[in-house]
Amino acid sequence: MSFSSLGLSDEIVRAVTEHGYTVPTPIQAQAIPTVLMGGDLMGGAQTGTGKTAGFTLPILHRLSAGGDKTPPGGHAPIRALMLTPTRELAAQVEESVRTYGKYVKLKSMVMFGGVNINPQIQRLRSRVDILVATPGRLLDHLQQRTVDLSHVEILVLDEADRMLDMGFIRDIKRVLAVLPKHRQNLLFSATFSDEIKALADGLLNKPVLIEV
Ligand code: AMP
Repeated sequence: MSFSSLGLSDEIVRAVTEHGYTVPTPIQAQAIPTVLMGGDLMGGAQTGTGKTAGFTLPILHRLSAGGDKTPPGGHAPIRALMLTPTRELAAQVEESVRTYGKYVKLKSMVMFGGVNINPQIQRLRSRVDILVATPGRLLDHLQQRTVDLSHVEILVLDEADRMLDMGFIRDIKRVLAVLPKHRQNLLFSATFSDEIKALADGLLNKPVLIEV
């Protein structure tokens, strides 16, 4: 099994290979083809399984396929939103997006609370294709109308169980309310409580279930 046999583009396989990965992990082998086909996914995976590449690689592929249709100087909307429970995880996920997206023309941004909001507002005025955020600060930006999520095509909830444990459910629901109805949804969680199942039921459309 190789990354290119899963259907990823040469640009993405090159970045992954340079990063030192040769064989997809089990969750990557299952998640990558599902996400490439555009389906919703419910992934039961702990950290350490390679889940981050499992969702970032196919998202980079999907968003870069077909080339960049943005006119020169034109505004490119945020197309993928990745929510994580903590700033550390948000920073790691965005670092992965940068690493694996080295050879594709997509711009990412990480956003979390506890730091000055103004540099984030400045950054949002330039191109962001993929936004990695913690829910609370994202909600601040929504309330201040400094972020536009009306063109999001792909949503990822990473470590959804931890987000619920941290009390982010109301923030998440407020974010979901402003996203386009038609989109791809990926939910990752290490545990499947009734609360996670309820969230998944409301969010996911005929999800492929992956457990590793
Ligand atoms: P994650 O579960 O996404 O936090 O990833 C856990 C660790 O596995 C990270 O340090 C990754 O760099 C590493 N990793 C992810 N995918 C692969 C792979 N296909 N081959 C080797 N290492 C990997």
